[in-house]
Order: sequence, then structure tokens, then C-alpha cells
Amino acid sequence: MPRPVAYNLIQKKLESDISIVGAPEGHPGEGFFATSLNNVIGLARKNSIWPLPFATSCCGIEFMATMGSHYDLARFGSERVGFSPRQCDLLMVMGTIAKKMGPVVKQVYLQMAEPRWVMAIGACACSGGIFDTYSVLQGIDQVVPVDVYVPGCPPRPEAIIDGLIRIQDLVGKESLRRRNGDEYKALLESYGIQ
Ligand code: SF4
Repeated sequence: MPRPVAYNLIQKKLESDISIVGAPEGHPGEGFFATSLNNVIGLARKNSIWPLPFATSCCGIEFMATMGSHYDLARFGSERVGFSPRQCDLLMVMGTIAKKMGPVVKQVYLQMAEPRWVMAIGACACSGGIFDTYSVLQGIDQVVPVDVYVPGCPPRPEAIIDGLIRIQDLVGKESLRRRNGDEYKALLESYGIQ
């Protein structure tokens, strides 16, 4: 007797099991919805983040779990992990970054097109972690600006997901003019980036 094969037998109910991205702030009417261009672009960007994982050690393994089916980063529209900086907009640095690697992290950041965001994941990327030594960079914010820090050694996948949700908040609310503003230019100049 062949063994019966069970497929996904749990029927999903559209209303209760599948959540749909909420509409931005605006004015609904009969047959139309009015909002600002800023909100529409923010909504599209925050739900289609393309991460670039820069993993050098143990925290990278935790990221692999975050990408797996149990935690499923894809539900945030972030399943398209890329390894070409030119196609990604979120640099996720995970692991111990030796001082020799600092210029490499910066080069990868420079190869990413604007708008780009950065997450420092784990104690090592945030602050050097337990490696308070001559050879380890004491936080990647010494070479590139960081938007969200995720603490922990290693952080659990839930913490990485929480960090991504915070990045989504930043992305969704960011003004389209921010990247052309004096404050942002001064921030980049403080890192020697034109
Ligand atoms: S923070 Fe801890 S787990 Fe993550 S790379 Fe450093 S030593 Fe490894």
C-alpha cells in the first residue's frame, strides 16, 4: 500500500489568516483615496526592502534561522536577500568586524544606491561585543552611519525581526527630501562620504 501523502490541508481563510498591508494616512471617499506621494512611496519602500546580509560570524547563523520557514522574514516583503550591494537597500551587518574589515564594510555601503539603511545586528557589530581588543572594530558606526542597533550575543531571531520592523517604520515615515537635506549631508561628511 503506498503511504498517503498529506499536502497543506489547513485551509487559509482570507479575512482572518492573511493580513493585508494597511493603507497610509489619507482621505477615503467613494471610489477614491487621497494621500501624499511621500506616504505612497514610503508604503512601497517599507514593504519591499531588499536586505544585504554582511555576516562574518555566529550572528550570521541566527540570521539564517530568521530567514527560515519558522520565522520567515519573507512576510515583511524582505525575502529577496541580495549579495550585490547595487541592488540592495538594507545593509545588515552581523558578526565580529575586525579593523581590517572596516574599509570593506564601508566600500559595500558606498556601492549601495540611495536610499540605503543600515542595521547593526549583535553586540559585536553594535559595539565590538566581548572583543575589546586591538584588532576588533568597536562598532560599525565608526565607519558607516547606523539606523537600527539590535543588541544580544547573539540576538534571537525575534530581536532581528523587531529590528527589521523598526527599519520599516523609519523607511515608511522618511521624508523624500531627507536625503537632500543639510543634516543628512553633514552626517555623511562626518564619515568622509561626499
Ligand atoms: S555578538 Fe556574540 S554571537 Fe554575535 S558575532 Fe559577536 S560573539 Fe558571535
